[in-house]
Amino acid sequence: MISENVRRILAELPNGVELVVAAKTRTPQEVAEVIEGGASIIGENYVQEAEEAQAAIGDRVRWHFIGHLQRNKVKKAVGLFDMIETVDSASIAREIDRRCLQIGKTMEVLIEINSGREPQKSGVLPEEAQGLIEEISSYSNIRVMGLMTMGPYPGTGETMRPCFAATKRLFEELKALNTPNVEMRYLSMGMSASYRVAIEEGANIVRIGSIIFGPRGGGAT
Ligand SMILES: *Cc1c(COP(=O)(O)O)cnc(C)c1O
Repeated sequence: MISENVRRILAELPNGVELVVAAKTRTPQEVAEVIEGGASIIGENYVQEAEEAQAAIGDRVRWHFIGHLQRNKVKKAVGLFDMIETVDSASIAREIDRRCLQIGKTMEVLIEINSGREPQKSGVLPEEAQGLIEEISSYSNIRVMGLMTMGPYPGTGETMRPCFAATKRLFEELKALNTPNVEMRYLSMGMSASYRVAIEEGANIVRIGSIIFGPRGGGAT
């Protein structure tokens, strides 16, 4: 049962590691069950799903955007989310900044790293992260709070381990720069099949869906 799955995972996570429940394609009822189980951060890939879930559930938890953000959805997204984990260009960051300025909000963001160096994948290459962060650090209504990565797909924990380790090294390098207006606090990596390895490699946010809700599009339960 969903709320028990959440309790079990929360009990397993070491202190200081936060759970983002990845809720894509799940119903507001299912999202309500994870909150009953103690989850305090919900991750959404789609702006519209987040809007529907929040309308049904209210604003009792924190909401992270973890999907690919399109420019024309930014205005709505900045009203719905507490953090955007997938910033990978100055142009999307500029739009987030502009829309946040209009509503008097400062958005916490993570920079998405294409740690597997896969073509056509979202995320910046590791060597591009510093320049992007420096650019964003001059924006008034965005605060960079760390890095996020998916890792190579498809993959298991072990095949992703080198990418997780490399992203952790990059995280530490960027943190050591002490860039003004940048706070390297969060490293978001690891999903159902890889979160244990990600934690071993230094993740302090894990994003988990299927082992909480069951397989996506699974039909009968
Ligand atoms: C779906 C998703 C997850 C969770 O994946 P599971 O394998 O279902 O745990 C994590 N992060 C992102 C960005 C996702 O889209």
